[in-house]
Amino acid sequence: MSFEKSKELYNEARKYIPGGVNSPVRAFKAVGCDPVFIKSAKKAYLHDEDSNKYIDYVCSWGPLIFGHANKKIIKSVEESLYHGFTYGAPTKVEVELAKLISKCVPSIEKVRLVSSGTEATMTAIRLARAYTKRDKIIKFKGCYHGHADSFLVQMGSGGLTFSTPTSPGVLEDVAKNTLLANYNNKEDIKNLFNTFKNQVSAVIVEPVAGNMGIVKPEDGFLNFLAEITRENGSLLIFDEVITGFRLGLSGAQGIYNVKPDITTLGKIIGGGFPLAAFGGRTEIMNLLSPEGPVYQAGTLSGNPIACTAGITTIKMLLEDPPYDKLEKNTKYLTEEMKNIFKKYSIDVYISQCGSMFTPFFCSEKVIDLDSATKSNTQIYSKFFQGLLNNGIYPPASQFEAWFVSTAHSLKDIDATLEAIENVAKNL
Ligand SMILES: *Cc1c(COP(=O)(O)O)cnc(C)c1O
Repeated sequence: MSFEKSKELYNEARKYIPGGVNSPVRAFKAVGCDPVFIKSAKKAYLHDEDSNKYIDYVCSWGPLIFGHANKKIIKSVEESLYHGFTYGAPTKVEVELAKLISKCVPSIEKVRLVSSGTEATMTAIRLARAYTKRDKIIKFKGCYHGHADSFLVQMGSGGLTFSTPTSPGVLEDVAKNTLLANYNNKEDIKNLFNTFKNQVSAVIVEPVAGNMGIVKPEDGFLNFLAEITRENGSLLIFDEVITGFRLGLSGAQGIYNVKPDITTLGKIIGGGFPLAAFGGRTEIMNLLSPEGPVYQAGTLSGNPIACTAGITTIKMLLEDPPYDKLEKNTKYLTEEMKNIFKKYSIDVYISQCGSMFTPFFCSEKVIDLDSATKSNTQIYSKFFQGLLNNGIYPPASQFEAWFVSTAHSLKDIDATLEAIENVAKNL
């Protein structure tokens, strides 16, 4: 396989764009090779500038549940384009999308549309702070909620009670109001609520974690979060930017039967276009301007093209829910992967939930960030590079989710397994 044109473009890109990319993980730094530049995509396949073809397991990091360039989505977007791109005024499609979202996700009575997951989570905590009149939030180590200042924090030397920024430019004064807990750890949460009585506005969590690789909640963990937040007058925020419409029509909250106060959505709801949302009970959502005093706005919020793609996507999901079949195909892929790794005596723990999974190169069950980071990232890099050279496009980090779409046929999955066997032999 040749990567000449991608290399040339990468050199050119680095002259004009910091690091040559518009989102860091795309640079392949964590897997020790240069990024490939994508020219086009269709169904389950990516085509790069050097005319290499890959079976894609990134799916744009989650949005593409129907694969690339879905015909129905193209058709609806094409029609919509001729009506104008953006008006900065209310539209019928916004109402239609909001109605669809609240019909599918019962905890969402009212919803506001934004352009990125970062905006959704950033405003969700602003709203929680305004509603509870408290400053602090609790987040979990390894959960990602976009790049707003409040989320770019790590444990300080004082353990659970002091957080410091992970990025220069984030104020200590902001970071100190974000408390950190280990995922799946009830004791951490109890301790924080005891130490910071009446100060915690919200707990924000990915109900199934996707950003340290896939990590599932232990039995009862999400229910515990719902109870302890209620008892303490705090809100529970489910960040379902990945899991919303991915695990089912009502997301992880439908699967685990837990009702959060606020939900954030993104990725799938835009059908591949920039669109995200946050929603919840009317009483909370009505605090938003112009109904209430909490400010939030966006020039392209509820953009008609993105809304149209979102509506088409959700309608397709409602008409013919693909979730059982997606899960079955994903199970087949991960079970066969396990067999291959076993055959070559490679330690792997595959964490799977619906159509998302992560093969962690470690021997023990992954339940939180500490156990996830025990995996061998050097093996992952070799695995990644091997797969890329065998026409498979996996996420460029050990700590990301693989996504299966409805466009991935059994033939594609079998071809993937063949490539995996080729690579595993030499790991
Ligand atoms: C992707 C993601 C975000 C951020 O969304 P952007 O659209 O990239 O800003 C937030 N939360 C979770 C769980 C995500 O996976």
